[in-house]
Amino acid sequence: MTVLRGNIFLDSVDALRPGQVEWNSVGQIVSIEETPQQEYYHNILPGFIDEHVHGIAGDDVMDRDPERFQRIGARLAAHGVTSYLATTLTAAFPHIRRVVEEAATSAPPAKSGARLLGMHLEGPFIDRLAKGAQPLEEVAEANLEAVQTLIGDNHDGWIRLITWAPNLPHSQPAIVWLTTHGVRVNLGHSLATYEEGRAGVASGATGLTHFFNAMSPLRHREPGLVGLGLLDKRLWCELIADGIHVRPEVIRYVMETMGERVVLITDAMAAADMGPGTFALGGYPVTVSDGAARLADGTLAGSVLTMDHALRNLMQWGVPLGSIVRGLSTNPATRLGLSNCGRLVVGARADIVVMDAAFQVMKTYRNGEPVYSALAP
Ligand SMILES: [Zn+2]
Repeated sequence: MTVLRGNIFLDSVDALRPGQVEWNSVGQIVSIEETPQQEYYHNILPGFIDEHVHGIAGDDVMDRDPERFQRIGARLAAHGVTSYLATTLTAAFPHIRRVVEEAATSAPPAKSGARLLGMHLEGPFIDRLAKGAQPLEEVAEANLEAVQTLIGDNHDGWIRLITWAPNLPHSQPAIVWLTTHGVRVNLGHSLATYEEGRAGVASGATGLTHFFNAMSPLRHREPGLVGLGLLDKRLWCELIADGIHVRPEVIRYVMETMGERVVLITDAMAAADMGPGTFALGGYPVTVSDGAARLADGTLAGSVLTMDHALRNLMQWGVPLGSIVRGLSTNPATRLGLSNCGRLVVGARADIVVMDAAFQVMKTYRNGEPVYSALAP
């Protein structure tokens, strides 16, 4: 048995309370008790789950180095992440397939960092007019045969999520096929009309990729995908809380009005955690300055955000801690069908991030085992 004491984020009261959490030798939480007489300066939160991350600290999911998933997992754990989806960019099919297979075969051992849950394919079935920083020449023709070629039978469910532009031809049969093969569908990278978006949802899509960014905006007679995200309460909405992709005021509004279906993501790329400079993303030079990563033409090229930084941003913008924790941990777990993580409750996995009074990461546990410590030599 291991016991950890501190201010624990309790689902039941939606706040931090002094207490202790205990887990057994297989990393399952067996008890959580409040100890109101105690005073602590550190906080215990459920580990963060990032369903949309391309890389960090110089490593990109699309690279060739077989050791990269080990390093990405370790670096993500230093930012409180306990599970993530390795996210691919638009590229030629053989390239994406190679990355999907390498990720499956080189999944790092349990004690070395954040858990690699599977893949999020961001492209190649996107709208050329809303490609963002993705390479135009690799955007693929959408038809059922192409989708089947790329995904295969997905018998192990390793491809957990795909971003799909619902205004592409053959979207409806493709989305139906994807959802019946274990691939959740986020609509995004698309200038689809509201009706095209609704057709995507009717076919089985359940979310929106980086809400507001690279999608048709809300207009009062043509609500677009942004309008669909605001109006359709069934949809999970990914949100990048770096203050650059979406203005803090809009983020606060979204967290207040629909926080129960916000999935906070980083959309981080290899330059995250590296400071300012020029780096490569999908073969293009990307310049990082003032916390933004941009292509030469000024297009945002993913982010350099980390999940712990997102938490601190949101607190600074006045978002209540409860809705932040739901966005970072609980909602992504529910969205991905993970019933045993994303909250600190008896029976759940001890996926935990310990943060100091200023919400800097001190220690991260995955399945009850320490995978990061700020004090490590
Ligand atoms: Zn992305």
